[in-house]
Amino acid sequence: TTSSPPVVELDNVEIVYDRHFLAVQGVSMEANEGDIVALLGPNGAGKSTILKMISGIGLTERGEVTRGTVRYEGNDVTNADTNRMVSEGVTHILEGRRSFEDLTVEENLRCGLYRGGRRLSYSEEDYELAFEYFPQLEDILDLKAGYTSGGEQQMLVIARALIHRPKLLLLDEPSLGLAPKLVQDIFETLVEINRKEDITMIVADQNAKRTLEIADYGYVLENGQVELQDPAETLMNREEIKEFYLGT
Ligand code: ADP
Ligand code: MG
Repeated sequence: TTSSPPVVELDNVEIVYDRHFLAVQGVSMEANEGDIVALLGPNGAGKSTILKMISGIGLTERGEVTRGTVRYEGNDVTNADTNRMVSEGVTHILEGRRSFEDLTVEENLRCGLYRGGRRLSYSEEDYELAFEYFPQLEDILDLKAGYTSGGEQQMLVIARALIHRPKLLLLDEPSLGLAPKLVQDIFETLVEINRKEDITMIVADQNAKRTLEIADYGYVLENGQVELQDPAETLMNREEIKEFYLGT
């Protein structure tokens, strides 16, 4: 059997903002098809920066890959823009779970994703996926997104991404500010989505414990570099990580 290349692969990547601020250096990592990959580490470690350069959003913040290579399904996508990456099937859920606050939950789900002035299409069947995984949303379809709870907003943005059936879903701090029970529910749903819809995921989160529980593989970043990496189960039992848990 021939094995397919990783969905996404970073090879010795350096990322610089504003042409002088070195945010990430010498990072090599990969996400294989069907995996959930955890990207861990303290605030400022470079997690969001890596996700942003994969999705192309980093370019709009004057970020640039200045060394190394980013590959997507085996093709070089180093410094590719969001239009390209969205059309390749990459969806990035930014930190802060941004929805359109003045639009209702239904309008948020329906308005879909726009890139380069083009609205990405979806079928009614795909739209229904939202409620298959997040039935709670069906009860609040007419509520303005700005009035929903943090948990509902996180469900909304994941559901909105799901409707477009991405191949690779990048999630930035999905657990931030949510009660533990909600984090557990949402993370369990992510696992279900990962398995049933065959969506590869990279989850950047400061909640190392919860994230490793759902991940196949994990990377711990510090100061823009990979400090530790291992299958999630192994990583969970390493002493350095146990200390790290207590810190968060
Ligand atoms: P994390 O997501 O792990 O908290 P970030 O990727 O946000 O870390 O940040 C990594 C480093 O890059 C930090 O030093 C941060 O201050 C810097 N940084 C992040 N975004 C920008 C930006 N848009 N412009 C300049 N520097 C940035
Ligand atoms: Mg971040």
